[in-house]
Amino acid sequence: ERVITSEFMEEDIVNEYSLRPLKLSEYIGQDKVKDNLKVFIKAAQLREESLDHVILHGPPGLGKTTLANIIAREMGGTLKITSGPAIEKAGDLASILTTLTDKDVLFIDEIHRLSRTVEEILYPAMEDYSLDIVIGKGAQAKSIRLDLARFTLIGATTRIGLLTSPLRDRFGVQLSMEYYSNEELKEIIVRSARILDFEISDEGALSIARRSRGTPRIANRLLKRVRDFSQVKGENIITDETAEMALKLLDVDDEGFDRIDRKILEAMVHHFNGGPVGAETLSFFIGEEVDTIVDVYEPYLLQKGFIMRTPRGRVVTDKTYEHLGVKKDQSGQQ
Ligand code: ADP
Repeated sequence: ERVITSEFMEEDIVNEYSLRPLKLSEYIGQDKVKDNLKVFIKAAQLREESLDHVILHGPPGLGKTTLANIIAREMGGTLKITSGPAIEKAGDLASILTTLTDKDVLFIDEIHRLSRTVEEILYPAMEDYSLDIVIGKGAQAKSIRLDLARFTLIGATTRIGLLTSPLRDRFGVQLSMEYYSNEELKEIIVRSARILDFEISDEGALSIARRSRGTPRIANRLLKRVRDFSQVKGENIITDETAEMALKLLDVDDEGFDRIDRKILEAMVHHFNGGPVGAETLSFFIGEEVDTIVDVYEPYLLQKGFIMRTPRGRVVTDKTYEHLGVKKDQSGQQ
């Protein structure tokens, strides 16, 4: 079982309800995104219009759904959540669109996974707030146009490159989410502890922050695991010793890497001579899905400078040799 995956887990359900900020002012970090949104929201409010469609791009667990919820509240609408893979037929999307009212926000997660036919329904819906439906078959078939409410579409994607350009061009606002700094994560952890009604020392919060892969979802999850250890020890405040001990037991190292990150790095060093290696080959070798490697692991390993991308594939850096305690020349094919 992996605690540091940034993908949604069953145990996050409680977090998603109680720890989710509801106002832009409570939303920690992502300053560039927030500054942009503030201007667009204000302008839309002044014109008494709905907000332009927004595409949020970035790894899972960084707060895209949370942001969509905040936008809906600020605009005075309600949020409807769905995802690319969940909308199988054009009719599924049509029936969601017709339930929306003015200022509502429709959030489509993993929007790059919409099928082509479903995507084509979205174009006129986004552009003219209209829905073209065909009634009847063959020679009797006729197309009718329905008006839709002035809604805002918020699309989220881990891979902006997979969006078709007609879809991408229809988003007026394109925002890219960054990994959080340790200081920001620390703030999120302290805030969560306060909401969950227990105490954590600053150093304890920073220990957890450092191992959270720049991701609030992971920070909240680790915090709860650490709290369990702390309570069993009978402490009334979480110290950094307890945090360190708990995280060690959870097999999260001081770079925030877990078993799978290490497996990726070890495979690259020992079996592919440091690279270059393609994502498919790596995926086959370590038995993880290509998408998981590309969407979840790689971005963090890249950002931390443990791997680099080259035209021929990924290569490890000196940092990786150091972290694994391997000398460069000892690592060859085994
Ligand atoms: P995504 O949609 O990008 O996968 P979510 O919006 O579901 O991520 O965020 C995961 C969790 O992280 C939320 O439950 C929320 O509690 C927390 N979170 C995300 N962003 C922030 C933030 N900026 N400040 C405080 N907590 C956050």
